[in-house]
Amino acid sequence: MRTKSGPRRLAAGPTTGKPQAPTAVVLSLTSSRGFAGIAAELRRAITDAVYEYGDKLPPEREIARSFGASRTTVRKALRQLEERNLVKRKVGSGTFVVHDGGRDEREIADITSPHELMDVRIAVEPHIVRLALLHGTARDIEAMADALRGLEQVGADREQFTRWDERFHMALANATHNPLMVWIYRRINDVRNHTQWSKVKDKVLTPSRIADYNAGHRALFEAMQARDAETAVDIINAHLAEARRDLLGARSK
Ligand SMILES: [Zn+2]
Repeated sequence: MRTKSGPRRLAAGPTTGKPQAPTAVVLSLTSSRGFAGIAAELRRAITDAVYEYGDKLPPEREIARSFGASRTTVRKALRQLEERNLVKRKVGSGTFVVHDGGRDEREIADITSPHELMDVRIAVEPHIVRLALLHGTARDIEAMADALRGLEQVGADREQFTRWDERFHMALANATHNPLMVWIYRRINDVRNHTQWSKVKDKVLTPSRIADYNAGHRALFEAMQARDAETAVDIINAHLAEARRDLLGARSK
């Protein structure tokens, strides 16, 4: 248990092997008790590592009691945290923290080249597509559709394209509902955000390539919607192969 000030743990059931917090049920009560206020409070508790990776959050009814809110409101707050990949809710066993403080991330991002990054994406994304088709929900499809709408509005803006592209591929990974896969994919996006990739991005992302990539995104989305696994896997393979080729071209210039 951390002793720093700020949000404190609610009473919780058995979590990891760490010492348990006192059973006092107090997060700071200064904020609004609407779901957004509760989500913000819990988010702070997670990012401040009051609750750490793998910890179980207290049950909904305890969170509700400590905030003086309804369980419906708490559920909404938890759903928002889950959408932001801070927690993972498991039916019947509770809500677990899946956010980690990012200790090793900077280091691995420093030493991974854009080509190595592409190798990892080529290794995992085709299977992500298969799992997303098996486990994805209507809400996951909606998240992909959202990102696709964003992608198709960026024109030639590289930064916007990159942001929406990450969201599109993250939505696919989220649709696997596999916490480890989601975690791995978040690390992949972290590496993408790093400077080595940022440097080549300007060479790679020409307006015509952005249009090509988006044609791939649209085709992939449609194959997912049609639940056509073979076509979807072919498309993601082509999409990544194209990105890899473009990256090689950028290096040879
Ligand atoms: Zn893409």
